[in-house]
Amino acid sequence: MAGKRILIVEDERDIADLVAMRLKREKYDVEIAGDGLEGLRKIRSSPPDLVLLDLMLPKMSGVEVTAELRKDPSTADVPILMLTAKSEESDIVVGLHVGADDYVTKPFSMSVLLARIAALLRRSETTGKDRPKREELLHAGPITIDEQRHHVNVDGKPIQLTLTEFRLLVAVVTGKGRVLTRDQLINKGMGVDAVVTDRTIDVHVTSLRRKLGSARKYVETVRGVGYRLASVDHEES
Ligand code: CA
Repeated sequence: MAGKRILIVEDERDIADLVAMRLKREKYDVEIAGDGLEGLRKIRSSPPDLVLLDLMLPKMSGVEVTAELRKDPSTADVPILMLTAKSEESDIVVGLHVGADDYVTKPFSMSVLLARIAALLRRSETTGKDRPKREELLHAGPITIDEQRHHVNVDGKPIQLTLTEFRLLVAVVTGKGRVLTRDQLINKGMGVDAVVTDRTIDVHVTSLRRKLGSARKYVETVRGVGYRLASVDHEES
């Protein structure tokens, strides 16, 4: 993972400097932005490989920055790891809803933070452009997935998914109707070493469904177990 560019968006200078120092020791290329607006500008001018995004920021909150990034196709799949205080739990859910990939609560141990960063970078690597070429498209009803280009169309219209949503959708569609437990989805969507709860998966799936619009019914809930690809052609509404 050496040489990967990480942008830290954090207004508490001490934390930002400490994290930057540690990341540089791991040979990451690190930049710091001190408020949400500066962070957004830096990401737009040159998208990094990962953003460490504090939630409570001057000028623009982490949630607002995430929402802006996800709206724009050129930054829609930049991996975002939110930094939050435990007291901001409702904000964490909002942050995941608008498209953050994962979060770490403050105070965090540096080794936990490094592990999460590495896991997120690995996920983006296997989904991203470094992946070997695959020509086939995946289909499910009106949904078309171009795995290599990370494009998803519904009824021929492109939709913007976060990295996690994209990987979850691919897992469900390639499952071909097999039920995937939340644990399996956590492994496929978030990386094996991600420490995430069932609720995190549910939040990502809810957000994925919202973006799928009329095609949402293809991602079917199996109560108490998980999710699967539904065959719903016979029950079009
Ligand atoms: Ca802050």
